[in-house]
Amino acid sequence: MTETDRGTPAGGGGKKAAPAADTPVMAQYRRAKDDYPDCLIFFRMGDFFELFFEDAVEASALLGIALTKRGHNKGEPIPMAGVPAHSVDEYLHRLIRAGKRVAMCDQLETPAQAKARGGYKAIVNRDVTRVVTPGTLTEDTLLEPGTNNYLAALAVAGGGLGLAAADISTGEVIIESPGATDLGSALARLAPKELICPEALLGDREGAHAAALADWQTAATPLPGSRFDSINAERRLKALYGVASLDGFGALSRAEVAAAGALVDYIGLTQRGKFPRLAPPRRRGEDTVMQIDAATWRNLELTRTLSGERQGSLLALIDKTLTSAGGRLLARHLAAPLMAMAEIDARLDGVDCLVRDRALREEARAELKGCPDIERALGRLSLGRGGPRDLAGVGAAVRRARSLATALGRPRAAPLPDIVVRAAGALREPSGLGDLLEQALTPDPPLFNRDGGFIAPGYHAGLDEQRALRDESRRLIAALQARYRQETGIAGLKIKHNNVLGYFVEVTPTHADALATDPHGETFIHRQTLASAVRFTTVELGELERAIAAAAEKAAAIETQLFDQLCADVLAQSEPLGALGGALARIDVLASHAALAEARRYVRPLVDASGEIEIAGGRHPVVEANDRAADGAEFVANDCRLGEDDRLWLLTGPNMAGKSTFLRQNALIVILAQMGAFVPAERARIGAVDRLFSRVGAADDLARGRSTFMVEMVETAAILHQATPRSFVILDEIGRGTATYDGLSIAWATVEHLHEVCRCRALFATHYHELTALAERLSGLSSHAMRVREWEGRIVFLHEVAAGAADRSYGVHVARLAGLPESLLDRAEEVLESLEKGARNGTADGLSGELPLFTAAERKPRAPARDKAEPALHQALQEIEPDTLSPRQALELIYDLKRRLGELPE
Ligand code: ADP
Repeated sequence: MTETDRGTPAGGGGKKAAPAADTPVMAQYRRAKDDYPDCLIFFRMGDFFELFFEDAVEASALLGIALTKRGHNKGEPIPMAGVPAHSVDEYLHRLIRAGKRVAMCDQLETPAQAKARGGYKAIVNRDVTRVVTPGTLTEDTLLEPGTNNYLAALAVAGGGLGLAAADISTGEVIIESPGATDLGSALARLAPKELICPEALLGDREGAHAAALADWQTAATPLPGSRFDSINAERRLKALYGVASLDGFGALSRAEVAAAGALVDYIGLTQRGKFPRLAPPRRRGEDTVMQIDAATWRNLELTRTLSGERQGSLLALIDKTLTSAGGRLLARHLAAPLMAMAEIDARLDGVDCLVRDRALREEARAELKGCPDIERALGRLSLGRGGPRDLAGVGAAVRRARSLATALGRPRAAPLPDIVVRAAGALREPSGLGDLLEQALTPDPPLFNRDGGFIAPGYHAGLDEQRALRDESRRLIAALQARYRQETGIAGLKIKHNNVLGYFVEVTPTHADALATDPHGETFIHRQTLASAVRFTTVELGELERAIAAAAEKAAAIETQLFDQLCADVLAQSEPLGALGGALARIDVLASHAALAEARRYVRPLVDASGEIEIAGGRHPVVEANDRAADGAEFVANDCRLGEDDRLWLLTGPNMAGKSTFLRQNALIVILAQMGAFVPAERARIGAVDRLFSRVGAADDLARGRSTFMVEMVETAAILHQATPRSFVILDEIGRGTATYDGLSIAWATVEHLHEVCRCRALFATHYHELTALAERLSGLSSHAMRVREWEGRIVFLHEVAAGAADRSYGVHVARLAGLPESLLDRAEEVLESLEKGARNGTADGLSGELPLFTAAERKPRAPARDKAEPALHQALQEIEPDTLSPRQALELIYDLKRRLGELPE
């Protein structure tokens, strides 16, 4: 790094203490900072992006880079930190993850251009070219391949909510109107990396949407309410999509338009007017997807386990896709299980076809494996941020799609289902693009245009010519070295190259004089003397060098031009290419479900409009997979049948018997079925579920300052308010976080409410056996229990769900299995017996009256010797006068007392 590489905004070489505020570069810097006060400013200077002042201090701490000082401002040195431009992505990644926003203030021209424009003193023009925020990333290095990176905007207008989201790396746009109670589900489904939101809405901690927004505070970017104006928004959207009316996108509400407008506005702002390729918005109707709230989302470990890992989640288990775009589509399907039977069936038809036709599936998967991410390549190209590798990716994907279409187009016995036929149609190659890109590009082109050398030989005659000239000159230089050696007789003479001198002739100092005195018919012009070498140039060498440089420059110019042309060719086809990318992802997802179904014996579910859930031989997909991996133990399949007459199952049984597993497996099977996947069961018929709720397990939500019990009650309240007769609810151990009678009463009332008011389908696991009495009163409720066998005083969990109630708690047995001391277990049995007797005798009073728990100390059996000794001991203690005792007497007295207690031999 040279001084000029890393200047300072104070100008000059950085050594002088100039009054910083006056220099033009400093003025540029301040303008950028004033325009983007909430961003770290990455200020391009030569090969580095520099940060100054407080930005430098903050970034150096976050990135662990050196904090230096350069120049002065008002007499104080200016703190500075910098990162090399070629590895800037890596630093951006860390800052974005730390929740920062970065404005890239780049050079808009080369120093040479600046000089040509404004003379010797002109400074390079700089301006903010992009604001990097978590929701507006496009670089592969900054993105997770299989996860959508949504930027979402939330607006309120006309009394409703509007939510718009875009993944600018893929061009997808979604618009929806979540009802007030569904905002949490909608956000959980999108999992936006950044949420732009009116300040007022975000700041209102007591408002109707506060609970739903609480999870997204760190992702939120508050903006003034004026940015969510629906009139401006409409204008912006019309301009973006080049339409006279928005009607073509479905009946958008004012709030939806406001949200979409704010989103587009923000994209324009952060991308500084450059717009990515954005597909027309897809409007998601309120009732087209199953609503899954944030708590259920977490509890069911759909995309992450409770401890936050992907491994062990449902998604990790079922995702057998081979492309990033396929992975993203599958995750989107999981996030939004469908309600529409026809659409679910269409997906299931596709899976079914690829389950049956194994050869076709394998052929398809062979094409998909390693297929580049065309969606993201297009996204970058459309923003002018793409490189040769993105072009090559598009080309490769197009060629894969071509082979896949051929495979799908082969004649077959049974016709392909619609969904596959439609995908195959979209795989058609747009006008020879695959071959064009293959011919134009080298097999493994560089990431960036500036690296050059990516246009294949034979593609462009002019380029080939310049390259030949360059190569010929290089060859001539090699020949020149041989000639000079011969002419001078200096065997060690070398022609070398570096960035400062260019090409030069180098000899050791001993030969320098001989060369300089020129007896050989050549003029060696001295350039540089070092300790170990002396360097010269010659007229001939200079000419060759100029020829090489000129050829290289011309070649680079031609390459850039060809690159731009290829980009234009690709972008002209961005619509069919987007569809082609979507079709690849679609086939990938169908084949993934099919591969999973075959590997794990999943079956095709039937989703219908009935109000029933009928699962025969259901299994928990994740537990089943783990168990097999661990010790070969077979997972025990269980049935679940819920319908109008029997819509609420009360499930009792000891801890560890498999209650939670059973509850969850049924919820997961419902989700899988409605997302259009096969399910782990022998047979499954699902009456489409509109909302899925779960209250499973309990974890203190310390981050939000709520106790386990509070969390439990908040979640239960949400369920009771929102569940409809079409919903499916699983509740595990309600009321556990409080005192027994409190808990029992709440559980009791909850069951009644679910049965009488919500009338939803529900599975309710509880350790309160008392609740089974409800089965007699409530017609739609039945009792079930986890079967357990006692064997030689121990219990064996059979993991089978059977009709009827568990007759007792096996907690003590479980405690024994856990290795609690034998004496403690005996005592616990005793207490249990009394408690049960109390309960049988009726009232709560009776229960506590006989409760031996608190009188246990008195009932403790004592040694007989001790009982007898007590009065005498008492007397002896009273007689002691501590002040009169010598230490020795005191000690003897203690021995004596101990002997009387029988604890020491007489
Ligand atoms: P509970 O909720 O009754 O305390 P869990 O559902 O947590 O019990 O199950 C405890 C353990 O038993 C699980 O970790 C799992 O390994 C095993 N298990 C549960 N259900 C089954 C089953 N159907 N077949 C085999 N093992 C099971």
